Amino acid sequence: MTRPGTEVNPLRVALVGAGPAGYYAADQLLRQDGVVIEVDVIDRLPTPYGLVRAGVAPDHQKIKAVTAAFDKVAAQSRFRFYGGVEFGKDITVADLAQHYHQILFSTGAQTDRRMGIPGEDLKGSHPATEFVAWYNGHPDYVECPFDLSQERAAVIGVGNVAIDVARILCRSPEELAITDIAEYALEALRRSRIKEVYLLGRRGPAQAAFTNPELKEVGELADADVSALPEEVELDPLSRAELERTHDRATQRKVELLAEYAARKPTGKSKRLIFRFLVSPVELSGNQAGEVSSMRLVRNRLEATPAGTLQAKPTDQFETLPVGLVFRSVGYRGVPLPGVPFHESWGVILNENGRVLDPETKQPVTGLYAAGWIKRGPTGVIGTNKPDAAQTVTCMMEDLAADRLLAPPEPDPAAAERLMRGRRPRCVSYQDWLKLNQIEVSRGRAAGRPRIKFTHVEEMLAALGR
Ligand code: NAP
Repeated sequence: MTRPGTEVNPLRVALVGAGPAGYYAADQLLRQDGVVIEVDVIDRLPTPYGLVRAGVAPDHQKIKAVTAAFDKVAAQSRFRFYGGVEFGKDITVADLAQHYHQILFSTGAQTDRRMGIPGEDLKGSHPATEFVAWYNGHPDYVECPFDLSQERAAVIGVGNVAIDVARILCRSPEELAITDIAEYALEALRRSRIKEVYLLGRRGPAQAAFTNPELKEVGELADADVSALPEEVELDPLSRAELERTHDRATQRKVELLAEYAARKPTGKSKRLIFRFLVSPVELSGNQAGEVSSMRLVRNRLEATPAGTLQAKPTDQFETLPVGLVFRSVGYRGVPLPGVPFHESWGVILNENGRVLDPETKQPVTGLYAAGWIKRGPTGVIGTNKPDAAQTVTCMMEDLAADRLLAPPEPDPAAAERLMRGRRPRCVSYQDWLKLNQIEVSRGRAAGRPRIKFTHVEEMLAALGR
């Protein structure tokens, strides 16, 4: 047998997770000069695109246009998709090692980080990740109970996910009705009684993690006034000195925008989005039914660490914020995959530049790789996954050249197909997905929306005649 990577013996790669990092890795693998590679992508959902479908906010359609590039990758003859096959449940590393020379994990960060404060698990206190998955129609989150009969909500954290959640809560039904938000979420938000949404930053405005276009966008909502407290958006001496030193234009603009929001007067819109800074929730309290009813906040001040970053330190000043709905949006977290080494405290697959490492020897595990958030943690925008995937693919090509590969006894597409269909007879191909896509888009067109999503796996399979 010739070495893998030729016409007669292609290098076979299994890629677990069909999000952006997976597509970028597949694209780079399929473009390798002088090496013939076959890429089979496995995802537990019948739909591809990962967080581009289930995480990007429905009112950010432009960002979703990146899927057209992903579809081009998938159209290549050496790309195959097995949707609805769950790694760890339907398929293991040992199964994949029968048919592939290399296995790449790009499963993202599927859960949330916790706050570790009393009351965090009261009814009405939720991870933002669940709310995001719910309004985006992720089949696993369709039944999540969010009590939108409350009038006041708080979002903990001031990153782009927090701002997405606050914005969706503040959008008018008319603004939402022209997006691809899940139908049930649109209906629930139509009936929402939310009037005030607080965004809570533990540090100051100069340290807020959201980006300026997202900040500007909430200042232009049709039916929500935006505000902030003047004393909280005024920079403390440490932040001011830092900004004078770095002249960071983006941060300057962010602080200016927030100061402008603090100076705004309410214009009588039906909702309010209120930025708060230098406060940390220390406890959530509930009513007799165990539902969250208020949040105790401690006021913070900033202190420089020896490394030079500014950290929030609690003072002895407290306040109580009455809220009936709380979303913690303090970062995503990766979920361990069975049989794959994991770094518990970082929430990522243990790896070096994308090569999975053995926890004992700290040496690469032959044939296993990682890319995207499950490799580096939940940071960056979609495009950040391109160089990240390139780094991993470089390692994979070096290992191919050095013959450090798995030795699959059946490196044969037909055998892999039998495995997948044996475990998941109704698994979905890319052609199937394209049919579902067409149905979603045409249903949407009839309603003046980009698409109306399928939100139940059974409904998708029924539409495919399964
Ligand atoms: P993020 O940008 O890392 O923001 C996390 C926020 O949580 C920060 O404000 C952080 O504050 C705060 N936080 C962490 N621990 C906390 C605690 N114990 N108490 C209070 N606050 C705490 O994460 P993200 O919002 O989940 O977003 C993930 C990534 O996706 C980011 O790179 C983001 O830009 C990207 N994303 C982009 C878009 C877009 O482009 N429109 C949309 C969504 C997400 P500290 O800074 O003080 O730690």
